[in-house]
This record gives sequence, structure tokens and C-alpha cells, in this order.
Amino acid sequence: MDEHMTTSEQSTPQTVLPGEHLERLRAQLTGRLVLPRDPDWDDARQAWQLLSDQHPAAVVLAADEKDVIATVVTARKLGLSVAPQGTGHAGTTIASWRDTILLRTSALRDIEIDPETERVRVGAGAVWPDVVAAAAQHGLAAVTGMATSVGVAGFSLGGGLGWLARSHGLGANSIRSLDVVDAHGRALHVDAARHADLFWAARGGIAPVVVTAIELQLYPIEKLWAGGLMWPLERAAEVVHAWGEWIGTVPETVTSLVRVLRYPPIPDIPEFLRGRSFVAVEAAVQADADAAGRLLAPLRSLAPEMDSMRPMSPAELGSVHGDPPQPSPAVGSSVLLSEISAASLDALLGAALDPSATSLVSIELRHLGGMLSPGRADGGAVSSLDGAGLVFAVGMVPFPEARDAVTAAAAAVARRLASFASPRRVKNFTETPVAAEELYGDATERLRAVAAAWDPERIIRLGHPLD
Ligand SMILES: Cc1cc2nc3c(=O)[nH]c(=O)nc-3n(C[C@H](O)[C@H](O)[C@H](O)COP(=O)(O)OP(=O)(O)OC[C@H]3O[C@@H](n4cnc5c(N)ncnc54)[C@H](O)[C@@H]3O)c2cc1C
Repeated sequence: MDEHMTTSEQSTPQTVLPGEHLERLRAQLTGRLVLPRDPDWDDARQAWQLLSDQHPAAVVLAADEKDVIATVVTARKLGLSVAPQGTGHAGTTIASWRDTILLRTSALRDIEIDPETERVRVGAGAVWPDVVAAAAQHGLAAVTGMATSVGVAGFSLGGGLGWLARSHGLGANSIRSLDVVDAHGRALHVDAARHADLFWAARGGIAPVVVTAIELQLYPIEKLWAGGLMWPLERAAEVVHAWGEWIGTVPETVTSLVRVLRYPPIPDIPEFLRGRSFVAVEAAVQADADAAGRLLAPLRSLAPEMDSMRPMSPAELGSVHGDPPQPSPAVGSSVLLSEISAASLDALLGAALDPSATSLVSIELRHLGGMLSPGRADGGAVSSLDGAGLVFAVGMVPFPEARDAVTAAAAAVARRLASFASPRRVKNFTETPVAAEELYGDATERLRAVAAAWDPERIIRLGHPLD
């Protein structure tokens, strides 16, 4: 007992104001607590997705696992939620920021590779370039996304679709274990044997925990052929249909997409592309030069204006798709296609060549199948995609007044493909909260049971909530 306390102080329960709890949290953190009155508030709350205007109650810039625990414990005491975020690519998938602490994990970036087991353990704030470069030094490749700026944790937990998709499946299927902090502030190691329900839910579904580190399987791929072939947009119909036939002939070691690209006339775009429109095929081919040459020959016979296909390390794959590395204001919409057929390709062409689509920078169709197909991989809540292709239409919003028009143009693409759409949606390509069943299908009820068991008070707030 404190000898300086008076009798009444000792017997009266201490009422601690929220501000005092937050000051206590500030004192406990190795990282930082940022509050709305702080000068760097706007920087701290900013997401990579510049259209995500996040207004949490506070931001914690976590330096380590202890900071994560302290944040969850404090939030619990105050009746707040905690929303973990690495980069904020998916900021618009958080249903509400009300009474929520934004927990930034971006400083948790340790990377440890075990060449024996061909696994990597990375902090929850790591981004792909750090990981793929380290893995390539051991002749290994990770199942990454097509954009370099995306976070390893959010990408993998959300499913994860990249250049190795048809040969190695969804990124979630490569998760081998997780270090997490649960809604009670307990640090747990989660894998197929320990807390298997959380492990199942986290892979492609949603598990109510803050991940502090993630262990992923890597694969022995030292080189592949990848790049793009581009033709003027006037050849769109010919190229799109040729690609549609070509994908029927390629093995699972080829992942590709066809896209319509419209480059805005702005100085950021290289002069040879600026203001021009193209139809393009991009591909990653796991083969030696001769085999890759044979596989790509039918497309090259269409005499592309540009051909950037070349042998590359998996660490260079991030250059193929050309996504912006810097934070951007973009709006997109997606459709999982149940078939890639002459009819669905015509519908895609109709949508992409419609005058309303000119505000969109890219309308792409990714070829799925292979290891993405249902029944091919054991995994978690979502381990496959029950569709033949994924359409993603995206436009930049250079100034706020353009947002509605770009959103409408992206939605119009999805609408025109509706008769070919699967009832399911792909989580990483769904930018606003939708009904959980659309994302998680038959796994939804089991995910709700896991959430009710581990976080009945809903302390942990993740993108694409279950309700
Ligand atoms: C330009 C661009 C290109 C993209 N390309 C691809 C692609 O090729 N393939 C693909 O599959 N996806 C792609 N995406 C989608 C991207 O993978 C998702 O938006 C993903 O959720 C981003 O993860 P993040 O960690 O970067 O984002 P964040 O917004 O930081 O996190 C997204 C969500 O992941 C979960 N999460 C993140 N960190 C944690 C944590 N520590 N603990 C628990 N949950 C956590 C939360 O639900 C969080 O809301 C792209 C997105 C953009 C903007």
C-alpha cells in the first residue's frame, strides 16, 4: 500500500479518465501515440490509399509486440476498437473509424529467411520489395502481388493474387504460421497445430487478432520470363480474343492478364506512353528461354508495338504491372468471371471501349484456374477462387470532384459483365465493405463463430467485417 495515500483515497475506487489511460499508454510505448492535437496527426492517420480519409480516435505507431499488447489492453479498458494497418492500401474497407485506435504496424519490418525450410518470417509491417529481394538471394520466390507497395500481411491474409497465382495458388495458402496479439492482449503463436481455428480463419478469411509477424513458404524459382506486349488500342478486339484462345493452351506455370490501358497526358508518364491508349498482355512464364519463346510465340506473331518480355529474377516482377509505387487516390471495381469465353470477352471489350470508360486508367482481366481452382489446395477460410478470370477496372481521382464520375465508370464495367459474374467476390479486389457471404461464402458462419469465441466485444477492427 502507498504510505502517502489518505484513507479515503485508499478506499475509493480510482476513476481514470480516458485521457489518463491514453497518457499511460503513451508512457508505456516504445513507439508513439499520436492524438488529433499533435502536429503530425494528419501524417499519422494517412493511408496509402489517398481516398481513405481516416479519422480514428488516436494513432499508435507500434515499435514492437509490447506496443501492440499495450494498445489492445488500453483500448479494451476504454471500450475502443483497434484497427491494425500496415500500409493502408485497403483503408476504404474499414466500415467505421468511430471509437477506434489506428494501430500502425509499419515499423515491424524484421525479415528472417530460413533457407533450409525455405520459409521467411516477416514483421507485419513489411512490404514486398524487402522480402522478395532477401528471398532472391537464396534463389527463392514468394507468392507476392503485382504491385510492389502492398503490405505482406494484408496481401497474404486477404487471399493474395500475383504472378505465381496459377502455379502456387493464393498467397493465403503460403502462410505457415502467425504471431498474433488477441483481443485480450495475449501474445500467441498460431499455426496448424496451435489455435487452429484462428489459423484457418486468418488465411483468406478474417481472424480477430492483430498479427505481429507472419511466416510464409517460399519456392525455389531463380528466374522466369515476364513482361508485357503492347498494341495500339485499335487492335483491342483482335488481341483480346487471341489472348482468350492462347490461355487455353498454356500450362499452370504461366500466369497472365489482358488489359486496356489509357495513359493520361501528364508529365509523370514516360513520353512514349503519355496520352496514348493500348491493349496489352502481361505474363509471367516459369520456363527457360526456349520454352518461354515457344509459349509466347502466338502472341508475338501479332506483332506488338512494344515487347518487354525478358528473363528476370522474381524480385523484379513488381516492375511488370506498372502500379504506382507512391500513395495514390484510385477507385476500382472488380468482377469474378465464371467463364472466359468469346461472349464474356466481347462483353469486356464492350465495357472497356465504351466512351464512359475513358476516365479509367486500366481495365484488366486476370487468368485464374490452375492452383487457384477449388479443391486444388488445402488452406484456410478462402483457399481458392471459383472463377475463370478476375476483371479489375481502376481509375485515378486527381481531384475530389472527379471521384463520383470515376467510381461510376468503374462500376459500369462491373455492371456490363454482370451476366458472366460469379456470386463470389475477391476480397483483395473489393474496395468497400460488402456482405460477408459474398467474400467468404460457405466459410462465413464458421468465421462468425471464431470471431464470437475470440473477440465477442469486437475490439479488433479489420477490413471487410463479418456483419
Ligand atoms: C495499387 C494496388 C495494387 C494491388 N495489387 C494487388 C494484387 O496484385 N494482388 C492482390 O491480391 N491484391 C492487390 N491489391 C490489394 C491489396 O493486396 C489489399 O488492399 C491488401 O489488403 C493490402 O494490404 P496492406 O497491408 O498493404 O494494406 P492495409 O490497408 O494496411 O491492410 C489491409 C487489411 O489487412 C488486414 N491487416 C493488415 N495488417 C494486419 C495486421 N497486422 N493484423 C491483422 N490484420 C491486418 C486488415 O484487415 C487490414 O484492414 C492491390 C492494391 C492496390 C492499392
